[in-house]
Amino acid sequence: MNNKYHLIYEGKAKKVFSHDDLDKVIIEFKDDATAFNALKKAKFEGKGKLNCSISARIFELLIRNNIPTHFIELKNENTMIAQKIKVIPLEIVLRNTAYGSLCKQTTIKAGTDLVKPLIDIYLKNDELNDPLITKDRIELMDIISLQDLDLIIDITLRINGILKSFFRDIKLQLVDFKLEFGYDIKKNIVLGDEISPDNCRLWDLNQKNDTIISLDKDRFRNDLGGLIEAYSEINRRIINFIEFNK
Ligand code: UDP
Repeated sequence: MNNKYHLIYEGKAKKVFSHDDLDKVIIEFKDDATAFNALKKAKFEGKGKLNCSISARIFELLIRNNIPTHFIELKNENTMIAQKIKVIPLEIVLRNTAYGSLCKQTTIKAGTDLVKPLIDIYLKNDELNDPLITKDRIELMDIISLQDLDLIIDITLRINGILKSFFRDIKLQLVDFKLEFGYDIKKNIVLGDEISPDNCRLWDLNQKNDTIISLDKDRFRNDLGGLIEAYSEINRRIINFIEFNK
């Protein structure tokens, strides 16, 4: 990155730099992958570019469907320009199918289709290991108003409707995903972070039998191999679909 921009923040998978326009930031997608609260780490050459491309196209899809997001435009292959937001320290997970931590913490069997989407909210705090949190605890900690929380839940459900149908069109099952929100300069709630196979579970529907083929970060979490191939396949399907439907 050009050194006229200074690093504001470095996370596990992204770096955030200042922009000439103080209301904007530059987000660089890194090749690093972490899992289990960064206990497991690796680098995958090309992951940053793939997640940047996938995220940009998903943000564009959401914006076309009137979802407020921080995304402004792609800058180059692994960087995007976004609105500067004040990040709300909550991770909003929506699940359509039971998998991952839900199955470790309950008796629900992996792969069960949920009758209605389940929203699990976690406190974004690495030291505390991102614990599952309740509405009452959010109120007690004064993180956001319950009115804003309801708005976030409503936007998350709308996003699920848009993404589920989009991914189904490209033969992917949207199992679950994690979102982060923030306040823009006008104090409006907007979707932030990224939407990529790093924070969505996507299963290939081009399967004749019931075998689960994960095309997401579970390839790294569960040592399945072929992470870049999986992310490239998702990027390829998204781009083909968008080109075809222009
Ligand atoms: N997720 C995420 N960041 C986290 C935890 C989860 O992006 O710190 C995503 C994850 O990729 C999956 C969804 O949220 O799409 C649900 O993850 P889960 O709670 O099942 O946790 P996991 O099994 O990944 O530990």
